[in-house]
Amino acid sequence: MTKDYYDILGIAKTASADEIKKAYRKLAVKYHPDKNPGDKAAEEKFKEVSRAYEVLSDDKKRKQYDQFGPEVFERTGGQGYGPGAGGFGGGPGGFNGGNFNFSGFSDPRDIFSQVFGSGGGGFSFDDLLGGMRNGRSARRRSSGARKGGDLNFRVEIDLEDAILGADKKIRIPKDETCTACGGSGAEPGSTRKSCPSCGGSGFIVSSQGFFQSQEPCPACHGTGSVILHPCKRCGGRGVMHVDKELQIHIPPGVDEGSKLRVSGQGEPGTGGGPAGNLYIIIGLRPHSVFERKGQDLICELPIPLECAIQGGVVDVPTFSGRTRMKIAPGTQNGTMLRLRGKGVPSLKGGARGDQIVRILVEIPSGLTSEQTKAIASLGLSGANYPKQAEFRAKAAKFLHS
Ligand SMILES: [Zn+2]
Ligand SMILES: [Zn+2]
Repeated sequence: MTKDYYDILGIAKTASADEIKKAYRKLAVKYHPDKNPGDKAAEEKFKEVSRAYEVLSDDKKRKQYDQFGPEVFERTGGQGYGPGAGGFGGGPGGFNGGNFNFSGFSDPRDIFSQVFGSGGGGFSFDDLLGGMRNGRSARRRSSGARKGGDLNFRVEIDLEDAILGADKKIRIPKDETCTACGGSGAEPGSTRKSCPSCGGSGFIVSSQGFFQSQEPCPACHGTGSVILHPCKRCGGRGVMHVDKELQIHIPPGVDEGSKLRVSGQGEPGTGGGPAGNLYIIIGLRPHSVFERKGQDLICELPIPLECAIQGGVVDVPTFSGRTRMKIAPGTQNGTMLRLRGKGVPSLKGGARGDQIVRILVEIPSGLTSEQTKAIASLGLSGANYPKQAEFRAKAAKFLHS
């Protein structure tokens, strides 16, 4: 369980910016590593206090915190709120949809809710552009350098964009390396000091029976030194929250759940490690004319009764404009006609799908009594309605009186 940030700072949920700052100063001084050399509990406290302050002192983040709670901001092994950090419950059910347009977000929290930790795995989405390197991508490099976590971001697009491709501007809320300290977390100009926990070696040796194992020092992440004065801008985190604007290219053929990788736009790395990747997850808005079924497009086309009876030529809408299609005499309601190659282009360079036209024979309405009489006078019989007899034969035992 993550502690409440307000509780950590010992303030009310309604605290003013000034009260937050005062509470932070008091506690930061009390638990500062300089004052408590080698005291692990104090060090943890100091980190907690800094993190709480970093979030609550930022209006935008404070709003997000009030809505979503501390889990969103917690970092797992220095990876930001990426893999395994919990966040909004990863896994396939994690995306709680939500619509938004590319053009201008009204409320940053709306977008924020689109960003999820990728923990849990189990995404069944096609991985389009290269390996799915979500999850455990953060590996220790040398001297405490860690790759940043990956970010997932859902983007809703229209079917037109999925078929024709599009360039879109998106804004994503994310952490970037702090510009004031360059990610070191140390106040510019200040120096580091030898880590009191490991004596500067960067390793801690533990022994179990005959076995001795060496592990990176958790206090300094294996670097051997700790920050003397945390950067004022980022509170020592080394990262700052930004709304990053990105231009993304959506290739023709993407589908619901398609995953596009944007390299190096995930969470920033720490200790000089590279940034993680950003994964754009495509969401398709329903279309008023076409329904997508895999590579095929389905379009329901109403035709007049006379056309269905005597045949004719009808206009069919396609993504490459109007196409004419022949209707055979006696075409039944529900007939499916196929327009080859008028479907969805293949993302992987294969053949284009088809467009399937489902015929909807429209029964005329608003007839005059003369028109109705004229139809009745045609003298249509069972021979004109073969399905009637066929059905009665099949259903005979249910039709007795
Ligand atoms: Zn900084
Ligand atoms: Zn250390």
